[in-house]
Amino acid sequence: MGDPTGFKSIERQIPTDRDPLLRILDWNEFHDHMSEEEMRSQGARCMDCGVPFCHTGDLIANMASGCPVNNLIPEWNDLIYRNRWKDALDRLHKTNNFPEFTGRVCPAPCEGSCVLGINEPPVTIKNNEVAIIDRGFEEGWVVPCPPQTRTGKTVAVVGSGPAGLAAAAELNKAGHDVTVYERSDRIGGLLMYGIPNMKLEKHVVDRRVKILEDEGVKFVTNTEIGKDITSDQLKNDFDAVVLCTGATKPRDLNIPGRELKGVHFAMEFLHQNTKSLLDSTLEDGNYISAKDKDVIVIGGGDTGNDCLGTSMRHKCKSLVNLEIVPQPGMERAPDNPWPQWPKIFRVDYGHEEAAAVFGDDPRLFQVSTLEFIGDEDGNLTGLKIVEVDWSKPIPGGAPFSPVPGSERTLKADLVFLALGFLGPESPVAEQLGVECDNRSNYKADYGKYTTNVDGVFAAGDCRRGQSLIVWAINEGRGAARECDRYLMGSTQLPG
Ligand SMILES: Cc1cc2nc3c(=O)[nH]c(=O)nc-3n(C[C@H](O)[C@H](O)[C@H](O)COP(=O)(O)OP(=O)(O)OC[C@H]3O[C@@H](n4cnc5c(N)ncnc54)[C@H](O)[C@@H]3O)c2cc1C
Ligand code: SF4
Repeated sequence: MGDPTGFKSIERQIPTDRDPLLRILDWNEFHDHMSEEEMRSQGARCMDCGVPFCHTGDLIANMASGCPVNNLIPEWNDLIYRNRWKDALDRLHKTNNFPEFTGRVCPAPCEGSCVLGINEPPVTIKNNEVAIIDRGFEEGWVVPCPPQTRTGKTVAVVGSGPAGLAAAAELNKAGHDVTVYERSDRIGGLLMYGIPNMKLEKHVVDRRVKILEDEGVKFVTNTEIGKDITSDQLKNDFDAVVLCTGATKPRDLNIPGRELKGVHFAMEFLHQNTKSLLDSTLEDGNYISAKDKDVIVIGGGDTGNDCLGTSMRHKCKSLVNLEIVPQPGMERAPDNPWPQWPKIFRVDYGHEEAAAVFGDDPRLFQVSTLEFIGDEDGNLTGLKIVEVDWSKPIPGGAPFSPVPGSERTLKADLVFLALGFLGPESPVAEQLGVECDNRSNYKADYGKYTTNVDGVFAAGDCRRGQSLIVWAINEGRGAARECDRYLMGSTQLPG
């Protein structure tokens, strides 16, 4: 700890964001950068506690508390303060293959468990992380490091999201010949086609993929395992298979009017928009346009919020976001103490942008959708909602009940369903005979990643359910370690 009183004398400072009214005019990232001096002083706020909870990555009350990849946070905070950026980068890469992704879009459970956060604003850990890796790329310190020897073993990784990329990076490091299969036309999974460009510019993903290619990883796009190549063939052609197919089956809302034109899953909207943006800067028109439309997004979380931000950039006419849950409090509730992930009211970029244009936060809390309403041509025109009361659960039924007389109709031309995901959607597991758990994810123990089929491993969302990039990286690394052990009898890979 370079500055023993930094946590008392220096206030938390995060980079400003571009003005919401200006940033919705483009698709570029919206966080500004801080000066080197400012970054170093933020590093000095770290207290180097005896027990740094920020890097534990434990699950408490079913939520991540601390960093799931166990980043060596106090070490690199100190190295930043001491102006030893390259050493900080080396420490960061020891635990995290892709800090440029997590430093941009991780919700930062590390900060929720920062000891300073007990009674002061926590250290700006996520921002320090992205500053280190961005500096590393600017200085040319991040270069391909191919393995010196090859083992002659071959591994197929199915799916190129953060779990697949982390598994491929580590298995390649161990000297195995790794081929990553991706059904989409671009590599990156939800890093590419889920998270929109303004949160994570796609050249950042391509830059890392190029490094992996230069290190020897082979990427095959537009190839769906289970369809274009059978799972059996894959198993015959490779010594081991790591399934990282994600959990992309969307939860539906089967209420009257679901078939109306204008009701879409969130991922149809987000995927098509990014593809069209990358293919033609939206010139080809191959996307669902929210321009001049009354838009309603059902469901919150990252997916719902990304639909808000995307609709704002299309210049929608109005925007409402429906949440069935009550509005969280501004402070931690007594049953949600430190170091748990703080369940508090947050204003994300999409909420901020909608409020800047339309005057109000777009969210309506404690409402449930009863019915989609349409015209005689089958076009959506609105939806009927009802307020719900969480203090009155229905015995043996829903944990809330409708408030009598609170039904009303909202106008809508477009509705996006952001209601979560139900597990992996590809037939790979079926063809291979991989067992699924009771949530329809591939069954494999955390830390082991082995499925019931010899030589087949599973990691990331397809194993744990839709989660976070940082967990996908953690699982990809762990599955690589166990796969390496399977292939070689022992392993030196971390994970
Ligand atoms: C809209 C949205 C926004 C999000 N925002 C954030 C955020 O801000 N921060 C955060 O931490 N997390 C966020 N998440 C969650 C995060 O993106 C995921 O947890 C993470 O990407 C999971 O990684 P994965 O590698 O397991 O799977 P995925 O990223 O889903 O990748 C799986 C890949 O496998 C491919 N695939 C599937 N089946 C086959 C097959 N048979 N053959 C070949 N390829 C196949 C798919 O096409 C896909 O590319 C968001 C999720 C969504 C949907
Ligand atoms: S990966 Fe996420 S949890 Fe870990 S240090 Fe970075 S921001 Fe924090």
